[in-house]
Amino acid sequence: MSWANKFSKPYRIESGKGFRLEDFNPDDTAHLHSKEHAEKLLEQSIREMAELQDRLYAQDRWGVLLIFQAMDAAGKDGAIKHVMSGVNPQGCQVYSFKAPSSEDLNHDFLWRTTKCLPERGHIGIFNRSYYEETLVVRVHPEILKNERVPEQLLGKNLWEDRFEDIRNFERYLWRNGIITRKFFLNVSKKEQKRRFLERLETPDKNWKFSAADIHEREYWDDYMTAYEEMIAATSSKHSPWYVVPADNKWYTRLVVAAAIVDTLKDLKLSYPTVDPDKRKQLQAAKSQLERKK
Ligand code: ATP
Ligand code: MG
Repeated sequence: MSWANKFSKPYRIESGKGFRLEDFNPDDTAHLHSKEHAEKLLEQSIREMAELQDRLYAQDRWGVLLIFQAMDAAGKDGAIKHVMSGVNPQGCQVYSFKAPSSEDLNHDFLWRTTKCLPERGHIGIFNRSYYEETLVVRVHPEILKNERVPEQLLGKNLWEDRFEDIRNFERYLWRNGIITRKFFLNVSKKEQKRRFLERLETPDKNWKFSAADIHEREYWDDYMTAYEEMIAATSSKHSPWYVVPADNKWYTRLVVAAAIVDTLKDLKLSYPTVDPDKRKQLQAAKSQLERKK
C-alpha cells in the first residue's frame, strides 16, 4: 500500500450507509507519533503532487474538483495553502464562496459554483461550496426566503431534494471526466474554542477573528447533524467525502495531501505520446536548431 493510500483511506467515505460522525475522532493522528516523520511525508506529498499535476495538465483529459467544508477555524485556509504550495498555479484555481450576492440569488443554487468548475487538465479548489446550501441554509432556514424559490416547491423533502440534485450533479461531472473529492475538516468544539481564544489573544491573529463566528458556534450541534446527514447522503465511490481529523493541523494537511495524491495516482495519468508525424516535426526542428548559430 502506498503512503498516500495508507493516510487517506481510513477517512474516505464511499457510501453513507451507517455513517456516524461520532466514529471519527478529530484528534486522530493514526499511524504517526513523530512530527519529523509527518514533515518528511508532507515534503514528499508536495513533490508527488507537483509531478502528478504536471501529467494531469499535459494529458488534458481529466479535471479535478476539490471541495473544502468545515466549521470556522478548522484550518481550511491552511490546508488549501499547503496544497497550492505543491502545484503549478497555472493549472490550479481557488474560489471562495461567501454569502451569495444578489446576482447569485437570482439563480438556482448551483449556478454560481457551476461557473467556476475546473477545466480539463486543471485542479479547481472550492473554499466552501454548494454544500453550504445544506449546511448554513439548513441551520438557519430563514436564509431560504432570500433565495426566492417558489413557495410550492419548498416542501418537506427540500433537503432530500437538494441532496439528490447534488448527487446527480456530481455523477454528471464524473461521467464527463471532472472528478470531485470532498473534504470535511473535522475539528472538535474544544479545539475551535482554543483557536478562537488564540485569535483574540495574539495581535497578529486578531484580523482572523469575527464576532459572527462565536455566534455560529452556538449552533454547533445543529451543524454537526447537518454535516452528518449531508455526508451520509452525498458520499459515493466516484465522489467520496473525506472526514479529515482537524485538531492537529500538520495531520490535517498530510491527510488532505495524501487523498489528492491517491486520487491523481488512480487516474493513471501519462504524458501524451507523440505520433510519427509529430516525431518527424520534432526531429526537423532539432536539426534546424543545430544547423544554425
Ligand atoms: P475566513 O473566515 O477564513 O475568511 P470563511 O470561509 O469563514 O473564511 P467568511 O466570510 O467568514 O469566510 O464566511 C463566509 C460565510 O458565508 C459563512 O458564514 C458561510 O456559511 C456563508 N455562506 C457561504 N455560502 C452560503 C450560501 N449559499 N448561503 C448562505 N450563506 C453562505
Ligand atoms: Mg469565517
